Amino acid sequence: MGGVDPNIAFLKALPHGAALIACHEGAPHFEQWNEEFERKFPALIEPGKASAQDDQAWILNLHAEIMDFAVSGRALRRFEVERLCPIGVEAFYCSLGWVEGDGADEPRMLLNMVDRTADRRVEESLRRELVSDSLTALPNRIGFGELIEEMIETGASSDAQAQLGVLIIDLVRFGRVNQALGSMAGDELILSVAARLKSCVADDAAIARIGGNDFGLCLVAQNGISDVIALAERVNAALSGPIRLSNLTISVNCAIGCSLAPIGHADPDELVRQAQAASRTAKKSGRLEVYRAGELGAARQRFFLESRLRDALTRDGLTLNYQPMVDLASGSVVGFEALARWNDPDLGPVSPNDFIPVAEESGLIVQLGRWAVNEALRQLADWDFMAGEIVPLKVSVNLSSIQIARDDIAAMIADALALNGIEGNRLTIELTESALVDDPVKSRELLETLKRANIAVAMDDFGTGFSNLASLQSLPIDVLKMDRSFVTDMLMDKDKLAIVRTILSLSQTLGMKTTAEGIEDSAAAKTLRDLGCTYGQGYYFARPLGAEEAYEFWRERRNSAT
Ligand code: C2E
Ligand code: MG
Ligand code: MG
Repeated sequence: MGGVDPNIAFLKALPHGAALIACHEGAPHFEQWNEEFERKFPALIEPGKASAQDDQAWILNLHAEIMDFAVSGRALRRFEVERLCPIGVEAFYCSLGWVEGDGADEPRMLLNMVDRTADRRVEESLRRELVSDSLTALPNRIGFGELIEEMIETGASSDAQAQLGVLIIDLVRFGRVNQALGSMAGDELILSVAARLKSCVADDAAIARIGGNDFGLCLVAQNGISDVIALAERVNAALSGPIRLSNLTISVNCAIGCSLAPIGHADPDELVRQAQAASRTAKKSGRLEVYRAGELGAARQRFFLESRLRDALTRDGLTLNYQPMVDLASGSVVGFEALARWNDPDLGPVSPNDFIPVAEESGLIVQLGRWAVNEALRQLADWDFMAGEIVPLKVSVNLSSIQIARDDIAAMIADALALNGIEGNRLTIELTESALVDDPVKSRELLETLKRANIAVAMDDFGTGFSNLASLQSLPIDVLKMDRSFVTDMLMDKDKLAIVRTILSLSQTLGMKTTAEGIEDSAAAKTLRDLGCTYGQGYYFARPLGAEEAYEFWRERRNSAT
């Protein structure tokens, strides 16, 4: 570096790091610089001084910017570089421009590097303050919104089927604690609650303190509302124990409200507002509340569901699942109940408990019911084909009373049987008591027609509806299907067990068989078998399965039996 260079005087006058650079052989050459530059960036001047990995990386970045500028044909470039060093990240604001006529053989550029690290730190801490609560260091309302936004972004790309749930936890008597014990005690209480929330949600949900006595949680709910409820229960349990505040022990009461939206359609502010509205309701009701849109919203929702369902029906968007029905005495699988499943691309899985009523109200049930019978029989024929024999299995299909009123069921079923080459004795139709009540004459006719075609009829959800026992006796019904509500927990509840016994003896008297639905453990299966119940169905044996799984389930059981 020459000693008497007018450039040096110029560089020296600059208050920050500055250097003159030329480019040859595809690399920048630092030719002249001021003291500040030498002090701050020794590794730029003497490449040997670059030691740490990160140092290398920022130098490479800077070189790339310089070379890019050199060929860009532009007069000026501004950019920022970051240097990782032991005490954190340093930020430099850089500018590059051409210096002409400075006596050098080739054009050189002037690089200015202004240290912005301090400003950055101030900005960051201001930002942190803006988005976090100073007492608990949790995100505040603004931070919560940003967290939800992030969860939507990452969630939507990884699992578009999932829902996003927001819970608002309102500490009901917090104001009173503050008043009676002072704000110090109030702060202590808030800190204890924050600690308990943190420990109970672990890392499956984000936590924030969004107001004086309000906390917010946000989670990706793979299983929809049931995940949200499970989390709310954990929160309740975590906060139910008394909290010690210096020399006092107090218990906190909380009201929890939640809201839920498909992750692809979630709006952070709306979710928080809805959960807050639900928590206000929860304050009055004393239990967990899930946000429900007002009446108008509900009607719109139904209409929306109806149009999506109509779409799904025309696009082959529905499937059937098959739940095994087991002979309780022998343990063999005698058939499957076909249960409709709808997995909407945007709404995710919709439960039949939600879409069957919509289908019934809109009349779509006629189309849905025709599809279900046909699809179940087609599947049965498929299984026969796969097995290379007529498999000893029956399928049960549910029929809604609306279908009886609106469709010619007998003809519809006869067509489906013929189309798929299946004998009538391999089909069971499940009806509820309401079908008989709605139109006794028409349903009697239908049952008699089905009987002549060897199609079995099961009375579904038996025990929950109004049944005229006299008419039951005179109707050609083959199976009484005891409602799940009697079977679940029947061993813990004397009344339920008494009802189960009554139904079993009733069906024996009438010469009918009995199916128990909702068997969830071996004790229930055993008791029902001992009481003379013919068939059983429930999670203990299997959940409703996809067609392939169902076939495998039957094959394995059959092989192990032989
Ligand atoms: P269902 O006919 O009484 O069907 C039994 C329901 O109980 C099924 O619910 C089944 O998944 C559930 N379940 C079975 N075992 C257990 C158990 O051990 N524990 C518990 N907790 N639940 C069990 P799913 O599939 O949600 O169906 C609900 C209802 O929707 C059905 O009740 C039926 O009334 C209606 N449905 C389903 N598919 C159709 C269809 O194709 N047509 C018509 N009309 N209705 C249908
Ligand atoms: Mg059923
Ligand atoms: Mg049932």
